[in-house]
Amino acid sequence: MQKLGKFILFFLIFFSCNVFAFITPDTLSPGVSKHLSKSINNTALQSQLYGMSNLSVPERKQEAFFIKINNLLNKKDLDNHSQALANILMANYHVLNSDTLRAREFMTIAQPLVQSVNEASLYNQYDYVNVFVLRSEGDLEEALKVSEDLYEKVKDKWVLNKLGDLVLENAYINALFARYRESIQSLDIALDYSLDSNDPYLISETYNVFGILYSFLNDHKSAIMYFEKAIDVMQQHPNLVRNIYFYANLADSYRQDDQYEKALELTDKTMQLAIRENDIPLQAFAHQVKARVYTNQEKYEEALQQLKSAKTLQEQVGEQMFGYELYLDFASAYLKLGQIDEAEEHIELAIDSAKEAAKLDDFYLNKLRSDIEAKRGNFEQAYNLLSKSSRAYRQSYNDNLTYVSNLAREQLDQERLSFENKLLENEVALNSKYVDKYKSYSNFLIAFVILLFLLMSIGFWLFFKYRRLAKTNEQLALTDTLTKLPNRRQMFRKLDNEHVKSVPGQSIYSLIIFDIDHFKTINDRFGHHIGDKVIKRIASITQHTLREEDTIGRISGEEFLIILPETVLKDAEVIARRLNERFANAEFSDLAEGIHLTASFGVTEYSQEDERLDMVINRADRLLYKAKKEGRNRVISTFNNDDTDSN
Ligand code: GH3
Ligand code: MG
Ligand code: MG
Repeated sequence: MQKLGKFILFFLIFFSCNVFAFITPDTLSPGVSKHLSKSINNTALQSQLYGMSNLSVPERKQEAFFIKINNLLNKKDLDNHSQALANILMANYHVLNSDTLRAREFMTIAQPLVQSVNEASLYNQYDYVNVFVLRSEGDLEEALKVSEDLYEKVKDKWVLNKLGDLVLENAYINALFARYRESIQSLDIALDYSLDSNDPYLISETYNVFGILYSFLNDHKSAIMYFEKAIDVMQQHPNLVRNIYFYANLADSYRQDDQYEKALELTDKTMQLAIRENDIPLQAFAHQVKARVYTNQEKYEEALQQLKSAKTLQEQVGEQMFGYELYLDFASAYLKLGQIDEAEEHIELAIDSAKEAAKLDDFYLNKLRSDIEAKRGNFEQAYNLLSKSSRAYRQSYNDNLTYVSNLAREQLDQERLSFENKLLENEVALNSKYVDKYKSYSNFLIAFVILLFLLMSIGFWLFFKYRRLAKTNEQLALTDTLTKLPNRRQMFRKLDNEHVKSVPGQSIYSLIIFDIDHFKTINDRFGHHIGDKVIKRIASITQHTLREEDTIGRISGEEFLIILPETVLKDAEVIARRLNERFANAEFSDLAEGIHLTASFGVTEYSQEDERLDMVINRADRLLYKAKKEGRNRVISTFNNDDTDSN
């Protein structure tokens, strides 16, 4: 629902005869010095002043009225009653010409005088003007209270057009409070007064407020009808003060009824008239209506241009009250242009410029805020704000539904439906946004798991590869490449294990070290290549001769070490001899003709005096050396270092 009505009424009250406000001479200050003097009660003057208070609104707005009152105030020896009345009428003139500050100044002077006189008729005059001043100051509740009390007191006493004027104001304030029932009731009464009094000004103003009310209710067809009626009455009475703002109101209703051509036409007409009358605030309003048309037509840049012109004009006359509507129009244009920060800034400016109006406008403000949050991608917040807005709307809808016309009710229903659809759409959008979010999360998660899996696979692959490599390396480090037998290092490790395990008297092991005799000659005669194969053949023969638990290793060129666990010296000797025999009888003809070889063996057994491993090895070595020295091709064994030739 557009909030144009508020705006229109401010115009109604403040600016229709704005031109007079600017010609008020500064020297015409309130009669401050005079109200202290007290003179004889001048009843003639008093009744003259009461007569002036019963003039029609256009007459009370005119310069002639001002001059008359001003002359009175400049007179010496005014009685308090007359002085109070003159100040009240001066305030009335100023509030009708939109100078709220000056109006309040005169009311402030009048107030103690009214109290000193203490007469009902004077209080009533004071209250009457105070209603308009209070409303212009934005104190809507107080204005409503004063106007209702006053109406009860004066409804049987006052002239009809003045009563109509009061009731019309009451209708407008109620409309601002979204109390449409009260507003329509007051309007009906105001219409009766205006028709009975046959005051064309009041009639046209009443139609105008009807138009405002219907535009509040979004019944733009009815609004158009009433604004047209107001203009019609105005045109039938050329002497009437020209209420150009009727055209502006009509233009805005055409706009809301989507009749943009007519709206623009009327805006131009308003503008021409406003320029001719030098009515600057009305020129500003014409720009604003034009901006709204452009906004509806999605020409947002043009709309902003118009709004800026409106603002410049408003600033020229120092008017703040219209800021609210204007700033909100700025906000929605910026919002449409995607300039979110500017939009938000202008909402704040709007609230600052009219705190009272903003308080009543939860519906529209939260709707704008919701759009802002949605544009920012904060969908949850947007949805909450829209819900708040919807609650405010539904509240006013329920409060007012039974009191409005059928046409207005239909419009309200449509509005409510479209609004609730929007709410639903937002909810759906919010949900799908969440789904999208989670979808992208889950895609990310899947990608992450796949990546993790790949990384882990690579990790495992590398781990196993390097472990295998390390194992191979270790194997290589401990294995003799030619014979694939344990090498010297590994043999010494194994021997160390065996040595540690041994318990003298219970667990015993024996050692054999053997070396091929005159191997150099085999190399020399058959070549190194054949020599290698011979070494391999010897390793193989040895392996096949030994038991499973025995270990053979190659500890240097053609020298081998055999570990015989759980074996006593005698048995070891037997094994050594068997090997000696097998080597001697071995067949090498597949390698080369004429290869024949023998080996020399040192055999020993672990004893409890062998504190260290090297003592056992050294002994075996010495025995081998002994075998070589004693002519080779033999087994020499010992026990307790007591060498024994067992060949
Ligand atoms: P002895 O009876 O005194 O042991 O005489 P020998 O000729 O066997 O002399 P020695 O043990 O001092 O020399 C070993 C020779 O074995 C020296 C080297 O040429 C040869 N040899 C050592 N390792 C290899 C090998 O891996 N392959 C081949 N083909 N020959 C080797
Ligand atoms: Mg040798
Ligand atoms: Mg050797």
